[in-house]
Amino acid sequence: MARARDPLGETITRSWWRRWGGRLPQRWRSGGPAVVAGRGLLLLTGLLVVLTAPLLGLPPDGWLVLLALGAAGLGLLAAGTAVPWARLPPRAPLAFPLLQMIGLAVLGATTEEAAGAYVPLFVLSFVYCGVFLPQRTAYWLLPAAVPLYLLTSEPVTPQVAVRTVVVACVWVLVSELLAVGARRQRLAAELLVRDARTDPLTTIGNRRDLEDRMTLLAPGDTVVVCDLDHFKQVNDSRGHAFGDQVLREFGAVLAAGLRRGDYAARFGGEEFVLLLHGSGNAVAVDVVARLRQTWAEQGGATTFSAGCATLDEVTSAHQALVAADAALYAAKHAGRDCTRSAESADGWGPRVGATEQS
Ligand code: GH3
Ligand code: MG
Ligand code: MG
Repeated sequence: MARARDPLGETITRSWWRRWGGRLPQRWRSGGPAVVAGRGLLLLTGLLVVLTAPLLGLPPDGWLVLLALGAAGLGLLAAGTAVPWARLPPRAPLAFPLLQMIGLAVLGATTEEAAGAYVPLFVLSFVYCGVFLPQRTAYWLLPAAVPLYLLTSEPVTPQVAVRTVVVACVWVLVSELLAVGARRQRLAAELLVRDARTDPLTTIGNRRDLEDRMTLLAPGDTVVVCDLDHFKQVNDSRGHAFGDQVLREFGAVLAAGLRRGDYAARFGGEEFVLLLHGSGNAVAVDVVARLRQTWAEQGGATTFSAGCATLDEVTSAHQALVAADAALYAAKHAGRDCTRSAESADGWGPRVGATEQS
């Protein structure tokens, strides 16, 4: 089943490295942004070490250690593509910075020429935590980072001890500042996306959101178009502000009256669309009857008419919407305050046939 597109979110978050990453095999792009960035952290660290190691004049043993670490790292990265990251806690990608630091510490501890040379790269791990993992993850990394830092900095003189404390404070500070910034940016982006998809008057989905939700429809799902009856008269007799309030209340009745997983949007004006998953036509008619009853009990200022169309193997979501709209007009012609269903649309729709009165 297709995933809902998120054009605004994509525009906000799309960058050159994402486009480049898009060319990687699917398995290497799995696990979400934190996992993909974790792989990037390890590969970047490896690349920096390989490019600069010749300058250190490593002995053959040192190159062997480097080779073994590189092979182990690549092996773990490959094994990590089989991990079900989505089911693990949000801090699980902490494994990537831990691996980075352990690898660098092993290199520093076993190869005198490399001792201390790569500890500045630890900061990359804290930057990674700040940008991609939940706030305060840096504190979780610290108990591993400090001993590993000391391991590559032997002997531990008072100067080394003080430097370790200062460096640890800087790591945490950088990480937490980035985490606060990243969180704010994420919230702002979420707010923008939510606003772009919400109808401001009724606070249910708007037409843009509806179009994306429609891509998730499958055979057996039903599209319902509801339209308030003689709404113009409500506006004319009681004022536009009252009309707005009626629309708000109607939207709330729809949102509250649907099952979990079903969906309501304001299509425009006094027209609303419901997407009922796997319900079939008869159930959809019952759902609308229940909504009509609730709306009447709540003292709705005016009645509403509805048209339903259920998707089958040959009907697209848009064809079902057209069929439901035609069924709505049949309901209007039948005197309003009722529901009509489109017959199964044979690849075109709509043929309004079977009629259900509610
Ligand atoms: P019918 O039963 O055939 O649907 O008649 P109707 O009067 O409901 O339909 P018509 O299309 O003639 O009028 C729709 C009215 O809905 C006209 C317009 O002023 C009103 N309307 C559309 N959007 C809004 C809105 O956001 N707020 C208010 N208060 N009224 C709106
Ligand atoms: Mg109307
Ligand atoms: Mg209308």
